[in-house]
Amino acid sequence: MHIRAAEGHDGAHMSEEKSPRRRRSTAKLLLALLVLASAGVAFWLGMVPQGFNPLPRLSLSKPGQWFVDLRLAALRNQPDQCAALLNDPELSAKQIDDKPFENGCGWQNAMRLSSAGGASLPVGALTCEMAAGLAMWIAHDIQPLAQEMFGAKVTRVLHMGGYACRNIIGSKVLKGFRSQHATANAIDISGFRLSNGRTVRLARGWKRDDVESRFLRAAHRSACRYFRIALSPDFNSAHYDHFHFDRGPFVRCK
Ligand SMILES: [Zn+2]
Repeated sequence: MHIRAAEGHDGAHMSEEKSPRRRRSTAKLLLALLVLASAGVAFWLGMVPQGFNPLPRLSLSKPGQWFVDLRLAALRNQPDQCAALLNDPELSAKQIDDKPFENGCGWQNAMRLSSAGGASLPVGALTCEMAAGLAMWIAHDIQPLAQEMFGAKVTRVLHMGGYACRNIIGSKVLKGFRSQHATANAIDISGFRLSNGRTVRLARGWKRDDVESRFLRAAHRSACRYFRIALSPDFNSAHYDHFHFDRGPFVRCK
């Protein structure tokens, strides 16, 4: 009896001691999670200062690089890294002055694009990370797909615009919000002109059951690696004739 009472007493003592310790461990765990989540958000939004970012710089001409999305995001606030990309053979572009944001429209760290991934692609203003994503997508996915499926090269990527000071179109819920086009962080791609004279357009080719459709669907799937939002004609009727790509904060591949 005596021994049992002593055990009971020790047990109660231990649980009293453990309780604050457990609380401290929980607090430490929560703090660690908070630090991790903040670091994740900082990487996601491209807000990690250059000197503190352990991810290597992107090389546009190198296929199969890791963490492509976070490395593209790292370009957002790094004009120096963007300037260095202008020497990359996969991109022909000129840096342009920032357009101060007014009424939710404008751009920062953008470029005027002439060609990307070996295809002509003239765009008046596009953010650096969008231009880099396009160059990688065209060089490493679109050109090999075109070669494999058509035995030809893509000479021109057709588009319906990059920058446009406007709200989101085609969604009743989101129509009150600015589109990523309003910050030159989006582009609408409508087709591809090939070196054999053929032009593959989304409006015509997406719903067919042939090589054009297979090419366009593979092109869309591969785009989701470089663009956070990659919408195809399957998304809604507003996109029946183009892919919408952007590098905003949300993710959707459909
Ligand atoms: Zn769009």
